[in-house]
Amino acid sequence: MFNLPLSSIKGIGDKKAAKLKKLGLYTFEDAIRDYPIRYIDRRIIVSISEVDDGSFVTIKAKVVKLNSKINSKNRKEMLILEVVNSFHNGEIVFFSPKYLKGKFSVGESYYFFGKIDKKGIVFRMLHPEFAKIDDKSFLCILPVYRGTLGIYQSELVHIHRLAMESVYNSIEETFPTFLRNLAKLCELKDALYQIHHPRDEKTLKAARYRIIYEEIFSLQLKLVILKNQFKKSKAEIFNISDELKVLVEKLPFKLTNAQIRAFEDIKSDFLSGSAMNRLVLGDVGSGKTILAFLSIAVAVLNNKQAVLMAPTSILARQHYEAFESLMGKFVSVEFIDGNVSKKNKNLIKQNVISGETRVLIGTHAVLENDVEFLELGLVVTDEQHRFGVRQRMKAVQKGLQPHVLIMSATPIPRTLSLILYGDMDVSIVDEMPKGRKPIKTHFVKNEKLNAMYDFIREKLVLGRQAYFVCPLVEDSELIDLTSASAHYEELRQRFPDFEVGLIHGKMKGFEKDEIMANFKDNKINILVSTTVIEVGINVPNATIMAILHAERFGLSQLHQLRGRVGRGDEQSFCFLLSDKLGHTAKARIETLVNEASGFEIAEKDLELRGAGEVFGIKQHGLPEFKLANLSKHKNILLDAQKHVKIIIDEYNMKNKEVEFFINKVNESIYDTFTL
Ligand code: ADP
Ligand code: MG
Repeated sequence: MFNLPLSSIKGIGDKKAAKLKKLGLYTFEDAIRDYPIRYIDRRIIVSISEVDDGSFVTIKAKVVKLNSKINSKNRKEMLILEVVNSFHNGEIVFFSPKYLKGKFSVGESYYFFGKIDKKGIVFRMLHPEFAKIDDKSFLCILPVYRGTLGIYQSELVHIHRLAMESVYNSIEETFPTFLRNLAKLCELKDALYQIHHPRDEKTLKAARYRIIYEEIFSLQLKLVILKNQFKKSKAEIFNISDELKVLVEKLPFKLTNAQIRAFEDIKSDFLSGSAMNRLVLGDVGSGKTILAFLSIAVAVLNNKQAVLMAPTSILARQHYEAFESLMGKFVSVEFIDGNVSKKNKNLIKQNVISGETRVLIGTHAVLENDVEFLELGLVVTDEQHRFGVRQRMKAVQKGLQPHVLIMSATPIPRTLSLILYGDMDVSIVDEMPKGRKPIKTHFVKNEKLNAMYDFIREKLVLGRQAYFVCPLVEDSELIDLTSASAHYEELRQRFPDFEVGLIHGKMKGFEKDEIMANFKDNKINILVSTTVIEVGINVPNATIMAILHAERFGLSQLHQLRGRVGRGDEQSFCFLLSDKLGHTAKARIETLVNEASGFEIAEKDLELRGAGEVFGIKQHGLPEFKLANLSKHKNILLDAQKHVKIIIDEYNMKNKEVEFFINKVNESIYDTFTL
């Protein structure tokens, strides 16, 4: 029943079916799970004297005359009903009256629902919906569905209704009664029926609650099941040797307390005998990279191979170089990205499979199917918000049961991390290395530009470096490039005595590497870039960040960009340039000027934009919610989290009903996170 195509409904031909497909509606089940986007309340019959001109209302009126007229504009026939409603005279106008033949009789009363046009005591309605006065079903809360051109709302309502009627009796409850009682949920059958055809506000609320809860709970449950599965998977124990202590002592700096805490977590995972599945969450600049390196060192000291992935070539290369210089002496490390020649790639692959190479650092090229390891023991991914669950699993499949460590600089509100990282253990690095000064952030209007340039010149003279970031102007790389290039030319003229460089996504890998290397060596003083430098880049001598058209960036992205400076002991500055600030852009800029903590900023961003956009739910490989909204439904999220724990306990205590349920969820778990 559920899988029956909608085209099997009478009156739905190929054309209609194609329109429905456009809406993602193929089967009866699709229709049932396609919830209304809003509702029209047709239940209350208003009296004309009370309603405002222009509002959508239901009225009752008696037809006193039927007139056919020719529309003077298009010469087409119109049907005009002259009607009365107590003291008011009105007209009901239909433009294509063919299908209305015989529907109205003089002397009869009807309900009309539509937009009312009032002029004194005379009123008008164009193309209202209508019903005979004995048809009480007209007085309902009417669903409104997401539509597309060429299909009427009334048809959508009809199709959804038919689909519901056909399957209603076959809808089975998916949750155990135990859980329904716990969370006070109505039955699935009722929820689905009432969400499409609500009897009243109360049932609608209960229906929506059940669906929202279901979306959030199911995902959380699946993530926790995954987490437990990872936990159950046995993994090699990595011992912590004295050699490691020596390595730590030799570092050019002392670890912060937060770094030490996170590393303790990591070490205890290594010693636990089950696979580590840990996220290290820390604001930009908090020093996560060194944790990755030390973890890799542990793996190597335990005679295992390790792989480190980063989302961009530039970042991967930076890690490679840093790792080389820190630990290259005692371990063989290779770099791989999409630009490596075929010949070299083959060589690297050989070295990896033979076990000669102990550490492989690169972009997602390391995930390619034919890169095989002899004894992979640890997978580290940096800036994981660019890697989805999918890639994560793919990486895990490369090793027998490798330990998995993920670093992310996207601070997320705690509630949200329950969803996004519900399948992982989390360590938080909430402390900056000593001596860091908070970045001074300023909003710069056009008339202050010259003052800003003077200021930047002073810093350049002192040997500091600056970034200028140009936004994505449009979805066209060409146009982005033009704006960055134009800016590059402008800065070259303004600062003829300094070296200005340009870097953008269209460049070849080695070109980017060269520019970055020159910037690192302070051979380039000013670096103009598109957003390719957003993630991870570390040049402590760069203390100026100027962001052009700051209004075009999201909050979290601005915070990430700002995080490219403030990485050394010198005072750093971030200038947000913009000449036209809308309301929300203003709120974003103000937040950034006043707030340094990425976690606070993330919370704000969530409020301003919603979870899907900010944290790329989809990018994470997570299914999208239809009704649930993580910033609006925080409380449901917290409840669901508690309930997940209780349900897992019940499962462990062999509650039969819950066992049956969990087994079913288990069967479908990999469909949710399609690999
Ligand atoms: P992120 O957390 O953004 O990845 P990085 O790991 O790139 O940050 O570290 C930022 C900078 O801070 C680097 O230059 C790194 O060498 C330095 N750093 C890391 N830990 C410390 C520390 N404990 N003390 C001083 N500097 C540190
Ligand atoms: Mg980093």
